[in-house]
Amino acid sequence: MTGSGPRPRVVIVGGGFGGLRVARQLRGVPADVVLLDRRPDHVFQPLLYQCATGLLSEGEISSPLRHLLRRQRNVDVVLGEATDVDLGRGVVVATRFDGSRFELGFDHLVVAAGMRQAYHGHDEYVRWAPGMKTLDDALEIRRRIVSAFEMAESLPTAEERRPWLTFVVAGAGPTGVELAGQIRELATRALEREFRTVDPAEARVLLVHGGDRVLPSFAPTLSRAARRALDGLGVETHLGVHVTAVDEHGVETTTKGDAVTARYDARTVLWTAGVEAVPFAQALASACGVEQVAGGRIAVTPDLRVPAHPRVRVIGDLMALDELPGVAEVAMQSGRYVGRSLREEIVTGLAPRRPFRYRDLGTAAYISRGNAIVQAGPVRVSGRLGWVSWGAVHIAFLAGYRNRIATLASWSATLASGSRRERAVVASPD
Ligand SMILES: Cc1cc2nc3c(=O)[nH]c(=O)nc-3n(C[C@H](O)[C@H](O)[C@H](O)COP(=O)(O)OP(=O)(O)OC[C@H]3O[C@@H](n4cnc5c(N)ncnc54)[C@H](O)[C@@H]3O)c2cc1C
Repeated sequence: MTGSGPRPRVVIVGGGFGGLRVARQLRGVPADVVLLDRRPDHVFQPLLYQCATGLLSEGEISSPLRHLLRRQRNVDVVLGEATDVDLGRGVVVATRFDGSRFELGFDHLVVAAGMRQAYHGHDEYVRWAPGMKTLDDALEIRRRIVSAFEMAESLPTAEERRPWLTFVVAGAGPTGVELAGQIRELATRALEREFRTVDPAEARVLLVHGGDRVLPSFAPTLSRAARRALDGLGVETHLGVHVTAVDEHGVETTTKGDAVTARYDARTVLWTAGVEAVPFAQALASACGVEQVAGGRIAVTPDLRVPAHPRVRVIGDLMALDELPGVAEVAMQSGRYVGRSLREEIVTGLAPRRPFRYRDLGTAAYISRGNAIVQAGPVRVSGRLGWVSWGAVHIAFLAGYRNRIATLASWSATLASGSRRERAVVASPD
């Protein structure tokens, strides 16, 4: 496929929160739009942890990109992983599932490829401590959690069961806090009536964090409220502590400053401590002759273009602009802005001059059943009111009516019965 045909071709790399919004804004525009993603689905990442802990199914938190864009005749969804870009020829190089290579020509390129989990120079941890960025990650984490409880159930002594009932979560940002809380809730509410040998309430969940408070991106009052809720759930929070080794049998942690080390035997270790740019960002930076900043992000001008490359835009988590956070709202707003700019440019032939302005609509984190925190400008809400607001926001932003209805139904069933039915696992890839 080549660009520079009778109609301009827009290639969007990534069908997450940002890329999908760009494609939707280009509805009816006289341009050929190609949405390239390495996966066939748009995934609602904020609910991945609920999929990992058996509350929601993978189908409830994802929608096929082709289905979401089925009514937009000018959009073609292409499955493949972008690996390189040749700006001279105006092509994105990509690979298919089977490893074969293909090229997509473009007149305008929008990169919305997001971030991946960062292991800070310790990629060897990946094997024992999966991160949580994709649907595959969530299903792998589910497999490990469910298998750990099943293994414990099959072992005769408490000593043998202990490592299987010890869960370590590294990183106390929203994902780490949500995962830790959900594992304790899964054990204490959902599984307690189903197991005969083990008492799942004995499940130890350790939340290990290098900083001095949980949820550091929230106001200190909300961090404290979250900490109290975690304590109430029985999550053991260790602050000022780094994970310094991970292996098949557990983790070693080291306290900041006095360098005291501790060892925890845990067969389930989960990693949520930091993110970095996806590998394609490096190829893009090198093609554009720019340095990567802040975890590998690409710095953009106020109209979200790569400096000196007006045909190339970067949005969402991958863009670096005014220290905006890597949250869904930034991705959606930047996607809408770029979609509208492209529409104007393609229709009038003139590049719009308005810069991107982010409107902070707030952020939220789920702590436990009936308890969430929400921060929107000066407004700080926690507890039940926070939980209701959190639920309303998440339902509103889930893609597709079917997912919204199904998610509401699953939440209601879990609230009423305490059970979690989404515990199917697939065999280990090892
Ligand atoms: C577990 C978790 C919980 C979160 N919770 C919240 C929350 O509660 N509130 C909030 O506001 N934000 C939350 N976030 C952050 C939010 O999900 C991100 O800010 C948002 O997804 C960023 O959107 P994006 O479009 O930039 O990237 P993404 O949504 O990550 O989409 C990137 C897309 O690019 C594709 N891709 C990547 N590389 C390539 C390639 N080389 N070729 C082709 N396709 C590629 C990926 O498959 C993916 O579909 C959470 C994130 C995670 C992981």
